[in-house]
Amino acid sequence: MSHMHEPKVADKNTPYWWESAPVKPLPQQPLAKKLDVAIVGAGYAGLSAGLVLARGGRSVAAFDAMNPGEGASSRNGGITSGSIRPDYATIARRFGEEKAMAIEAEGKIAREFLYDFIKTEGLECDFQLVGLFKGAIGYEQYEKMARSAEALAKKLGIESYAVPYAEQRNYIGTDFYRGGTVRMDIGGLHPAKFHAELLRVALASGLTVHSGTPVTSIKREGDGFRVVTSAGTVQALQVLVCTNGYTDGASPFLRRRLVPVRSRIIVTEELAPKVMARLMPKLMMMGEGLQLGFYYRPSPDGRRILLGGRDSSRVGDPAAPTLLLRRGLVNLFPELENVRLSHSWFGNVAMHRDMLPRIFEKDGVVYATGFCGSGVVWAPWIGMRAAYKLMGPNERARTAFDFRPPAFIPLYRGNPWFMPAIIQVYRLQDRIALWRARR
Ligand SMILES: Cc1cc2nc3c(=O)[nH]c(=O)nc-3n(C[C@H](O)[C@H](O)[C@H](O)COP(=O)(O)OP(=O)(O)OC[C@H]3O[C@@H](n4cnc5c(N)ncnc54)[C@H](O)[C@@H]3O)c2cc1C
Repeated sequence: MSHMHEPKVADKNTPYWWESAPVKPLPQQPLAKKLDVAIVGAGYAGLSAGLVLARGGRSVAAFDAMNPGEGASSRNGGITSGSIRPDYATIARRFGEEKAMAIEAEGKIAREFLYDFIKTEGLECDFQLVGLFKGAIGYEQYEKMARSAEALAKKLGIESYAVPYAEQRNYIGTDFYRGGTVRMDIGGLHPAKFHAELLRVALASGLTVHSGTPVTSIKREGDGFRVVTSAGTVQALQVLVCTNGYTDGASPFLRRRLVPVRSRIIVTEELAPKVMARLMPKLMMMGEGLQLGFYYRPSPDGRRILLGGRDSSRVGDPAAPTLLLRRGLVNLFPELENVRLSHSWFGNVAMHRDMLPRIFEKDGVVYATGFCGSGVVWAPWIGMRAAYKLMGPNERARTAFDFRPPAFIPLYRGNPWFMPAIIQVYRLQDRIALWRARR
């Protein structure tokens, strides 16, 4: 009864995706004494890497502390954004023009790879390449976004264009934005189905997956590693860490260089077809030009709206972040004022200090992490490149994301006490940007 003071804000606090693709434990597997490769984490990154290694003839097992997929990989929005947080100029300043260009180009390749992979492997995950509409908060931002849409088309040949305010309602049933841009290389999938299907093909390829089996320590021993798990100890020649936002004490080096942040999604009850047709006429994925902008989309069956955003809570499952997202939803679509929410849940995304995902090596252990809330495209791609890297020098291991370890974060040992403050700063910046844009 301790929650009596909190209003019931959603019917369930588990992912909507689990209704049709529940995460579950796998049958227990005998533990190998020796492995070529031990993978820590069985989300998109760990499974994609395991798939490549198993097909490459390696003896390989992935260990997951929870049910496979129970991390971010069955909780996300399913938007195949493949975006990179820092803009081109920032990356060029820090890492050089060449790196910046390579990163931008690889986004296109990684997205195309994902779509091709889903098709050739026959992964049933409700993938639809519907495009993404990004709303501008003001006319000045609209002009800027329109120019980037043009550049995207010119530079990378991506179908992208501006939508002026007068035509906005053909894309989204709100007057909140001042126009926006569309890019057609982004779509949506069912994240938990995608994970389950990835698991299916990985297992079929010979990957062993131990669920409910945390790795507790990784130590160098002889010419390999001693990997201690809750089910026993394994000797592995190589270790790949794919724990992203769920990184724990088993990887102390990574833990001090990776900040987990909660992201939350709310889902509406089924809406009338005419309401959906008005609010999301093209059933596109949606984003907005703010630091802490919402991301939202129709459910794959086109009957509900899912809306996600930052959750600044750090313990328990309080009602406030759900109410905040709900206010955001109603602000966009006032006619949803009395809508019931069927689900609200959160998961962890993870960022390195420079907000760039990467593959790196430290003391012989290889890591593939830091997807910054864009791992639907990046985690499979970077997980696979990491697997090729482990298989020895070869063309397929080449990626712009294989570089130095992420920077150390001062005063940080894995407990991001500073995040609520940072989120408040972003929120304030967003409020100022909105006020400026509308004055
Ligand atoms: C609410 C939400 C919405 C999102 N929306 C989008 C979106 O729309 N588009 C997009 O591209 N991305 C989105 N993301 C991000 C995306 O989900 C992630 O980037 C991606 O799933 C990361 O995959 P992963 O395999 O690296 O990590 P995860 O799927 O998080 O897997 C890590 C696994 O490591 C395991 N683990 C940790 N420590 C240990 C240990 N010691 N031993 C064994 N196992 C361990 C955990 O149990 C976990 O299963 C979202 C994320 C969230 C949380």
